[in-house]
Amino acid sequence: MAQRYVRVKTQQGQTYYGVLHLNRSVEILDAPPWKGGQSSDLTVEPDSYELLAPCAPSKIVAVGKNYRNHAAEMGTEVPAEPLLFLKPPTTIIANGQSIYYPKQSQRVDYEGELALVIGDRTKDCTSEQAASKIWGYTIANDVTARDLQKKDGQWTRAKGFDSFCPLGPWIVRELSSGAQLQTFLNDEIEPQQSASISDMVFSPEFLVSYISQVMTLLPGDVILTGTPAGIGPMKVGDRIRIEIEDIGCLENFVAAK
Ligand code: MG
Repeated sequence: MAQRYVRVKTQQGQTYYGVLHLNRSVEILDAPPWKGGQSSDLTVEPDSYELLAPCAPSKIVAVGKNYRNHAAEMGTEVPAEPLLFLKPPTTIIANGQSIYYPKQSQRVDYEGELALVIGDRTKDCTSEQAASKIWGYTIANDVTARDLQKKDGQWTRAKGFDSFCPLGPWIVRELSSGAQLQTFLNDEIEPQQSASISDMVFSPEFLVSYISQVMTLLPGDVILTGTPAGIGPMKVGDRIRIEIEDIGCLENFVAAK
């Protein structure tokens, strides 16, 4: 199994980056792994830590309509250039935490997405250079208040509520180019979303290059690469699970605010 990089909070309240072992103990690193963190002498035992989202980005840059079949289900064309928006870092929650359903919305959707984690300070890089700027991969749910997205025109409110970016559970460094992404609601056997990440219109490298022409990406920043067809609503009490081959699964519950 690929190395799984995590962020944990110990019972003493300290936060560390680390490597998750098969027995669920965590080998603590002395810095974030993309900043050259090395193994320390410390290991935390299973059940003595809380798994946090695997990084703490300065920003989350997201991409809209990056799968042809999702653009079609929204009744739109694929954009000629990547369509960018931001989610504030306060949207992030860890695997297993609750997505809070805001009172302002009557329609809150899941969007299963591949998330890229940036390893270097990145500005004006080419697609060729971008490959080395992507430190690893994790899973995200770009939760969206669909009614507010339509109402506002701007997406800041619809995409920006606290808890609207489940992220994790860990970061891996390698991903097959044809890895499958699937989203499951509650106990349903059939996925709501099922696609290969190779179906993206703009590749991860192209996106990193494109975004870096706009804003400097910092180590630990996260890029959400868009969702495939099959988006749909969640209600309070629902459980939503996103699986990406080679990474694992990210599962969260929907709770009333
Ligand atoms: Mg999205």
